[in-house]
Amino acid sequence: MQNQVPCFSSLVKQLALATAALLLVCLHPLCAQGPSVVSDNFELNDSHFHLTNYIQQGTDIHDFLKIMGTKVGRVALFGIPLQQQWSYQNSGDFAPTYYLQSDSPLYYYSFTDAYIAMAYRSLPPAQQARIDPMITGFNPADMYAADHIRRVLQTFPGVFTGIGEFTIHKEFVSSKISGETASLTNPALDRLLDFAAEVGLVVLIHNDVDVPFPKEGAEPVYLDQMKALLKRHPNVPIIWAHCGVGRVIHPIKGHAAMLESILSDPALKHVYFDISWDEVAKYIVSTPETLRVSADLINRYPDRFLFGTDEVAPASQEKYLRVYYQYEPLWKALSPETSAKVRKENYERLFDEGRRRVRAWEAANAKQHDSQ
Ligand SMILES: [Zn+2]
Repeated sequence: MQNQVPCFSSLVKQLALATAALLLVCLHPLCAQGPSVVSDNFELNDSHFHLTNYIQQGTDIHDFLKIMGTKVGRVALFGIPLQQQWSYQNSGDFAPTYYLQSDSPLYYYSFTDAYIAMAYRSLPPAQQARIDPMITGFNPADMYAADHIRRVLQTFPGVFTGIGEFTIHKEFVSSKISGETASLTNPALDRLLDFAAEVGLVVLIHNDVDVPFPKEGAEPVYLDQMKALLKRHPNVPIIWAHCGVGRVIHPIKGHAAMLESILSDPALKHVYFDISWDEVAKYIVSTPETLRVSADLINRYPDRFLFGTDEVAPASQEKYLRVYYQYEPLWKALSPETSAKVRKENYERLFDEGRRRVRAWEAANAKQHDSQ
């Protein structure tokens, strides 16, 4: 049924009022900093999304905005810093698109940051407001990594909110990267996190808490190093991707207790976890017991978990949101307040603050691009 058509002059009047309201809103000084989107009508925000894959190909950002549609309000968006080399010596005419498809190395592909920045800049302001681009194209084993991040911020001011997802320990991947292997104890990592603190960047780090196929009952190999690193950088909001779970790093017995040892530590109150990745979702919803333990932990620390998809270059909304739907039992098991925080509000709090601080740093550290 169609509503009665209102008369033309009342339409014009309504339109004029709406335009005036819009003008008033946009004259507000906050508008100049890239307004936060009122996402009340959206179901979720995504704190972990790869626009491109291991050979730097992916979804066109304009298509991606359509895929977000009316469901996803905001997205922390990045490429993948590592490029899989196509070595003719190794795979001949077979062109690998994933790191498991070739024995040849991965290397840091810094141009990803320029690519992401230009993609973001091609969007109209209202769509830009829904995206938080992240810098990833640096080698965390390089003392100069912090300088790369500074250069990206000064070359593309007004774009980025944080850094990551970058990786320290990840099964199969770490050992495939050319050059020195990244480590949680490398001062290069401290230098870049010190810089993140100075700027106010949100940090998203991938670090498997353990090696593949660990010995039953043994302490996760990288837990102590990770805690020490986190404690050395109390002024940076750090999101630990996938709650530390890796592909063949099955959640250790007592994974929830391990997470709680971090969540309950006042020296680690700047640490957050994302529950992105279908492998994590699979584990959380696998039995009534895992679901109960997970929901109980998240309900007790509702401000410390963020939803993310960890999708790579999806072609449709259905593919993009499969992890979100996989979590249906979890959304039901959480209290409504906790569910809203994990799906949306924690993202807004962290990334709004990140945007505000990074824009302020950029304004204070603007670089003149003159021809001297
Ligand atoms: Zn990821």
